[in-house]
Amino acid sequence: MNAPTETLFLSHETPFVGLAHPFIEQVNTKPLPQPYWIDWNNTLAQSLNLPIERSKPWLDICSGLVDKAWCSVYSGHQFGVWAGQLGDGRAHLLGSINTIDKHYEVQLKGAGVTPFSRMADGRAVLRSSIREYLASEAMAALHIPTTRALALVGSNLPVRRETIETAAVVTRVSPSFVRFGHIEHYAHRNQLPQLITLLDFIINQYYPQLLESDTPYIDLFELIVSHTARLMAQWQAVGFCHGVMNTDNMSVLGITLDYGPYGFLDHFDWQHICNHTDQQGRYSYANQPHAGYWNCAALASAFWPLINDEALLSERLERFHERYEWSYLQLFRKKLGFKKQEESDAALIKDLLDMLHHHQVDFTLFFRQLCELSLTNSSQDELIFAPLERSLSLFNSWLSRYRQRLMLEHSEDRERQSDMRRTNPRFILRNYLAQEAIKLAEEGDFSMVRQLKTVLDKPFDEQPTHQHWAQLPPQWAKEISVSCSS
Ligand code: AMP
Ligand code: MG
Repeated sequence: MNAPTETLFLSHETPFVGLAHPFIEQVNTKPLPQPYWIDWNNTLAQSLNLPIERSKPWLDICSGLVDKAWCSVYSGHQFGVWAGQLGDGRAHLLGSINTIDKHYEVQLKGAGVTPFSRMADGRAVLRSSIREYLASEAMAALHIPTTRALALVGSNLPVRRETIETAAVVTRVSPSFVRFGHIEHYAHRNQLPQLITLLDFIINQYYPQLLESDTPYIDLFELIVSHTARLMAQWQAVGFCHGVMNTDNMSVLGITLDYGPYGFLDHFDWQHICNHTDQQGRYSYANQPHAGYWNCAALASAFWPLINDEALLSERLERFHERYEWSYLQLFRKKLGFKKQEESDAALIKDLLDMLHHHQVDFTLFFRQLCELSLTNSSQDELIFAPLERSLSLFNSWLSRYRQRLMLEHSEDRERQSDMRRTNPRFILRNYLAQEAIKLAEEGDFSMVRQLKTVLDKPFDEQPTHQHWAQLPPQWAKEISVSCSS
């Protein structure tokens, strides 16, 4: 018998489901056979007033044993090309969890085929599910808008990719899973009434401040552009590369969505490509902001049937750059411990990153070590930067500019250091760490997945017992290759 989900704080009543056909289809799941817990995110569960302990009813739900589920259709541009209809090919919406201050939709990823699965199997492998589970929580802890992961459940069900792997399901939650591709879908089909219904829904649910606007659609477009620009800056500031920035993976709320072949920078590299399949580097680290802008331009085309004013659309679209630059500078100023703004900051930041790039310096570790710098006393510099395994002389001329810049605002060591430690993480989800956790999990040992999750929940804390996860990655980390296959 299926779990009585309505009694487990999971409501079938979600406004998105209320949109009904053609936006939403009711579908069946195909539960994982003999599921077992890999992890239950008790911190997130607690914040949603859910049980902290793992329970059988939630194991049922999180493995797809539910009485009702829905999925939605969308389209999108993939790698710059119109891909036509896509849709939730392996995502099942179960309903929502509502607390006083949160409305979260609940979605399973990997619980079987849907009408939008095309030729694929509706499953997700353990490897990619661990990656999504860990990354979404790591990003949330870094204060970057993202979908969240409530649970990770596995099964011995074989799944064929390049080799035979086993299946898993991530239960993810988000205020909304609506993508640019949902809007594009109706625009490209010239289905104006549906396009209007969808945009009105987005405004009603997520941008109620626009309800009073005389020009709600263009204002909505501008807000999505603005949130996307800010998200791009946040990714850059933490060295996160998404890997598949297709418009079907872009959230209308400007949150990080669909973790596939993503990667966090180890050594700083403008040209870093995290997705092995992206041979041209369309979504390389340096190109991410442009890709975000490009996606907003694609979204502008989808608003065209309603706005019909090229100059107006383009004016709002172009605000992306201003918003991005502003956010980017703000975030990097914070990373560097600046409280005031100086004209010369942009150059100081650019020169720093070029230097890190040139000498292949670890991005996360550099900024974290920089937190220890003293404005007046340089005798400790050697010690501070020793973990980077680079000669201090490489940094000296930049460091002296940096010290001058700090003096300009009479920066106080203790205060700046503690501020900087709250913005430059000690721990990030390095690819090799995810890889080690996956290897153990594939042997049936989920302890590292759980430990990593716990450590990454507090990325700004020192956590001395896990210092080994905060050091330079091993040589073999360079060989890791992550593709779209999931
Ligand atoms: P992605 O590249 O993961 O964003 O997926 C692109 C599209 O393919 C989306 O519509 C997914 O739902 C669908 N998709 C990816 N993998 C599968 C799968 N194993 N089964 C069904 N649909 C899938
Ligand atoms: Mg996707």
